[in-house]
Amino acid sequence: MKHKGLLIVISGFSGAGKGTLMKKLLHDYEQYALSISMTTRAPREGEEHGREYFFATKEQFEDKIKQSGFIEYAQYCGNYYGTPKDYVEEQLEAGKDVILEIEIQGAMKVKEKFPDAILLFVMPPSIAVLHQRLVGRGTETESVIMERLMRANEEAVGIEEYDYIVINDDLETCVKELHELLVRTHEEVDAQYHPNKFAELIENIREELSGLVKGEK
Ligand code: 5GP
Repeated sequence: MKHKGLLIVISGFSGAGKGTLMKKLLHDYEQYALSISMTTRAPREGEEHGREYFFATKEQFEDKIKQSGFIEYAQYCGNYYGTPKDYVEEQLEAGKDVILEIEIQGAMKVKEKFPDAILLFVMPPSIAVLHQRLVGRGTETESVIMERLMRANEEAVGIEEYDYIVINDDLETCVKELHELLVRTHEEVDAQYHPNKFAELIENIREELSGLVKGEK
């Protein structure tokens, strides 16, 4: 029996290492597809249109909202970010497990629309490490770093809403554990929908249907 893929949401504070974690997960295992979001924020050095994000103007983004082109979208630190619908639906249909790397407001919207989605929150081992990673990245000014730390403080309020917390300490271990967790979850979700689970219901429906058909004759 062919199953559709699983929708996986990954959130975490800016600098928690989500990007690196996802890159390695996609590199090490074949079954994942990463959704590329659309954003109105300016590209950082080294980022490419169509690879990290689809960079768009506010007008382009708002047009896509009007056309119902997003699964979800949110505003984060003054910019729009959204998950385009088409790619995600295609990949899920093809049986891939699709990863959305999005912030908390978007994550909550996805859970509402897709109750089977699995929500993961990536945490750094400590706030000192988080700060260090943001500074070390060298792509953000001190004021942007402060803004992101303040935002992290706000996001910390919603962590309980997630299904699992992933501590990103050692990359190798973290990726392996994450993959194992996702495989187990996939199996659980599949089992939930397996015909065996509905044997009694199927039997009853068959009986009722054949009764109806006989009655008609
Ligand atoms: P950054 O500017 O650092 O690339 O991303 C800022 C935040 O926006 C991160 O928390 C990232 O996960 C989130 N984000 C990226 N794409 C999307 C999206 O499509 N939807 C939502 N809701 N958040 C997103």
